[in-house]
Amino acid sequence: MTTIIANTIIATVDDDDRVLADAAIAIEGPRIAAIGPTAEVRARFPNADVVDGRRHMVMPGFANTHTHFSLIIARGIYEDLSPPHKPPFYSGLSPIPVPELSVEENAAICTVGAVEAIRSGTTLVLEDGARIAAYASLMAQSGLRYVLAERAWDKAKGSIGDQLPFEVSDALADDGMQRISDLHAAWHGRESGRIAVGIAAWAPDMCSPGLLRRLTDLQSSLDCLSTIHLNQVWGEVEAVKATRGRLPTQYLADNGFLNERVVCAHCRCMTCEEERLLGSTGATVAFNSAIAARRGLSPRIHDLEQAGCTIAMGSDNMAEDMVEVMRTGLFMERIRRQDGRNPTPEQALRWATRNGYAALGVPDGGWLAEGNRADLIMVRTDRAHLVPLMRPVSTFVHQGQAGDVDAVMVDGAWVMREGRVLTLDEADVVAQADRMGRGAWARLRTARPDLPWPGGFVPPA
Ligand SMILES: [Zn+2]
Repeated sequence: MTTIIANTIIATVDDDDRVLADAAIAIEGPRIAAIGPTAEVRARFPNADVVDGRRHMVMPGFANTHTHFSLIIARGIYEDLSPPHKPPFYSGLSPIPVPELSVEENAAICTVGAVEAIRSGTTLVLEDGARIAAYASLMAQSGLRYVLAERAWDKAKGSIGDQLPFEVSDALADDGMQRISDLHAAWHGRESGRIAVGIAAWAPDMCSPGLLRRLTDLQSSLDCLSTIHLNQVWGEVEAVKATRGRLPTQYLADNGFLNERVVCAHCRCMTCEEERLLGSTGATVAFNSAIAARRGLSPRIHDLEQAGCTIAMGSDNMAEDMVEVMRTGLFMERIRRQDGRNPTPEQALRWATRNGYAALGVPDGGWLAEGNRADLIMVRTDRAHLVPLMRPVSTFVHQGQAGDVDAVMVDGAWVMREGRVLTLDEADVVAQADRMGRGAWARLRTARPDLPWPGGFVPPA
């Protein structure tokens, strides 16, 4: 069966950033069979099922190259509790821990994350988490394309950014290695290759040299992607300096961890020397712009790109909205560079789509061309904030909203159509996540009234 989306605008993100008007795209199985003028494409496939693409633009789907669906539990709380940029540093991302979640509660939170991802036009997600096996089937059911990166670490006590001495736990290291191998055996290549499994080393201050080397060897033997948080917060930099006598990027390079199949999340608290070193390895930077802005930190994206890094984008914590991520990234770089023209909207769109796909091992996805994977979205253009539509890519990057996304296709299969998510029961998913999430926080607030709770809770404590 062939599907044609006809009479539409197509933002290709091809080598020339072509935008086609009154165009059509034909999809056969999981791939794009043709792109061109509507009359031509329809003549080539006379028996195709035709979708009216008027009042819409077709774009590649977004690649979220760094997220943790389970941290949606901290939405509305952690955004305002970022770690300090100067000593005294503390352990973790917030002075308040996330509540312990049952397997069922965690699955409900992760599933609402998948729904939000779909609604913002995301088609590919790198999920960095521990014990992903417990919710992998729900992720698969969502219809999205995934790299499920199972997390390992071996610092016995403490979390990211703390200054506790590094006490190695071989048991933690072995457990992480085993979970990665098990998830890979169970899920890698499933759903016609829509699910891949990768390796997540937590962070430089959470992994010993021995574990980094074991994970590098495992990456070679599994032939998969790796990811790590890198130069995320200043507490991490201080901890690595104190423990290893090196800066975080140097520490990873010393231990052979960095290569062109590693996605480094953040790269914010970094020296110019580290930027050059990272670029020389060909690693990808996941520019997690929205959370970076919330933390009051910014990576030097232009410098990282010039050094040789691939720039991709991610949402990281508490949100899955890639439209917001893309625009925030453009804004942050323009402010940081004091440049009202660069990066261009075409660059930002490329970071959020094609570059992310390439970084996650799908170079024939994230841009629209004959033979490529049919991972695409349709956005409504007949909106008050999008007309007059003169330069569609610029207009959408500067003015578009997740709510404009009307349809999402992954591997040639509709995941959302005409504003309705087809793979999950959205109303039920939202209700469960709200009920279970509020319940989990209520337990923690009752058990730990001593924690430095911010104001604004409903109901108040
Ligand atoms: Zn993260």
